[in-house]
Amino acid sequence: MSNGLAGTTLRINLATGEIRRFPTDEDLYRDWHGGRGITAKILYDEVPRDADPLGPKNLFLLNAGIMSGCFVPAGSKVEFGAVSPLTNGPGDSNMGGHLGPTLKFAGYDMIIFEDISPRPVYLFVDNETVELRDASPYWGMKSLDCEKRLKEDLGEDFEIATIGPAGENGVLFACITHDFGRQAGRTGQGAVMGSKKLKAIAVRGNKSLHVKDLDSLRKQVTEIIFRTQKHPNMEPWQKYGTAFFMQWSNMNAVMPTFNFQTTYYEDIDKIDGDQLVEKCLITHKACFGCWMNCGKFTKAVVPGKPEVHLEGPEYETGSLCGPNLGIKDIHHLAYINWLLDNLGLDSMSGGGVIAFAMECFERGLITEKDLEGHSLKWGSLDDIEHFLDLVAYRRGIGAWFAEGTKRAAARIGRGSEKFAMQVKGQEMSGYDGRWAPGMLLSYMTADIGAHHNRSWTITVDMAEGRENIEGRAKIVVYLQHIRPLFDTWCICRLFWGELDVTPEELVESLNHITGWGVGVEDVLRTSEKIWNLNRCHYLERQRNHGRTYDYPPARAWEDKIPSGPGKGKGLSLAQIDRMLDEYYAARGWDKNGNPTRELLRDLGIEYAADNLEKLGLLGEPIPGGIPKVRGEKYKPKAF
Ligand code: SF4
Repeated sequence: MSNGLAGTTLRINLATGEIRRFPTDEDLYRDWHGGRGITAKILYDEVPRDADPLGPKNLFLLNAGIMSGCFVPAGSKVEFGAVSPLTNGPGDSNMGGHLGPTLKFAGYDMIIFEDISPRPVYLFVDNETVELRDASPYWGMKSLDCEKRLKEDLGEDFEIATIGPAGENGVLFACITHDFGRQAGRTGQGAVMGSKKLKAIAVRGNKSLHVKDLDSLRKQVTEIIFRTQKHPNMEPWQKYGTAFFMQWSNMNAVMPTFNFQTTYYEDIDKIDGDQLVEKCLITHKACFGCWMNCGKFTKAVVPGKPEVHLEGPEYETGSLCGPNLGIKDIHHLAYINWLLDNLGLDSMSGGGVIAFAMECFERGLITEKDLEGHSLKWGSLDDIEHFLDLVAYRRGIGAWFAEGTKRAAARIGRGSEKFAMQVKGQEMSGYDGRWAPGMLLSYMTADIGAHHNRSWTITVDMAEGRENIEGRAKIVVYLQHIRPLFDTWCICRLFWGELDVTPEELVESLNHITGWGVGVEDVLRTSEKIWNLNRCHYLERQRNHGRTYDYPPARAWEDKIPSGPGKGKGLSLAQIDRMLDEYYAARGWDKNGNPTRELLRDLGIEYAADNLEKLGLLGEPIPGGIPKVRGEKYKPKAF
């Protein structure tokens, strides 16, 4: 048995129903580490560049990385991957819970779905038994309802991932839901799953994983467990989860408010972490192998509506569906979270899309006539509920917004592109970057569009000077190498980010599991290779230079922050261009944002240079050569 791996990879052709089993390619894992690394490699190698993301030639991958299911801090994650219908580039998204470890306990490292099923199906995995089963009884069900029903039908010990109506109907920011509140939300993986007529994945497994040096792993991780339990951040994390940051972000003027018009919300006290714990909390909740339990299982009680139960709102949903929509009641916020979850919509893009539509409504760019007679006013729960129904079922103008803010703005026009708060088609996470230049640069350059999980710099911005853009690019590059490693290994990032578990310790765990004997510099280099391969894939699909796609919407430089502690702050287009120049130089890309042959050769992926060259997109050689160290090691400050 392989160290850390379950041993088998499945390839399932949904059109024919053929299920093939292969020994997991250990060399591939050694080179790409699983998770988003293997996802990047397989998508690059196998999906034709002209493939429609919602068509038969796109693949849909599910894999648990090398550390998922092992005795490490929260080896809980599973990674989904496909060319994204939202960004039209390589896409991936991961979730916690228990699905990833259970997949490995059933004996499988990865499932690759090909083509499209002629009828709705779900995948049934029970150790050796792997079957595509008829999903017609479940098709049309909402995500949380479907998970509950499948557990009733199959057994409580099955781990279930589902899509909701949004995924079935091809909403481009549809998500995948698991564990009644864990989502693979970003890049529209739920839309791809729906396009393949795959309603759900149900897995049960009870096998063991073999690791290279169990005694050393147990000793090391036991020490980490005892140490991190005493960390000062542990108590607020366990009490509030990420909802703790609602006040923090507001106080520091990065809170997206009224569709990123401003960065400070006067009514934050009504929807912050204290309100969540006091009024909504039912119990705390953790993913597999986690002692931090950031999950908050809650209820929303709104007069005139059913009482509903959900996980959250965590910070991202809280910010993007709270201040960003003008919500002033914690139960309303939780109810919106539940609506999005049950419809199967990414609550981050979902918040961004609602906010964009609200601003369009405020400006008269859409009217009640477009909204079946409803209005869409800031803070109105009823308006939001109706609007989400339009979007999830693509009714009327809902079909425009179902394509995300970038495409909706292209349809609506009349200047709305300026406040469609996205990059590369993906809506921004819950931080305004106008007074946090590193954060804005992170959004601009992330391979999957404006998502914070690739690089989060706000404490760095604060430490280094919030008006100062110099040197920020190197830090962004470093963070873009280290943070995605967690999605590659399929473990939770928060033990590193919040509890000071070091990269050196995690690499030591990796070596105890695999016996690879690698160092931190080696894994950072692997991460850089993944980053560059995704960049090449993205450029090959767009058939254009990279710089074209790395700009934020014009609000980021045309509008200064109008109120709150950040009043008057903002960046100019010249500063944004300078940050991009510095970023490309730090990466060893040319001024157009295209990787060079020298860099791709250095990373061992020169075949990508050949492909770029054929399209006229290979970066010009850098005078003096590429930098030897790309990215500057930076330890983020603890909160
Ligand atoms: Fe899951 Fe939160 Fe624990 Fe991470 S810290 S594993 S997201 S419960």
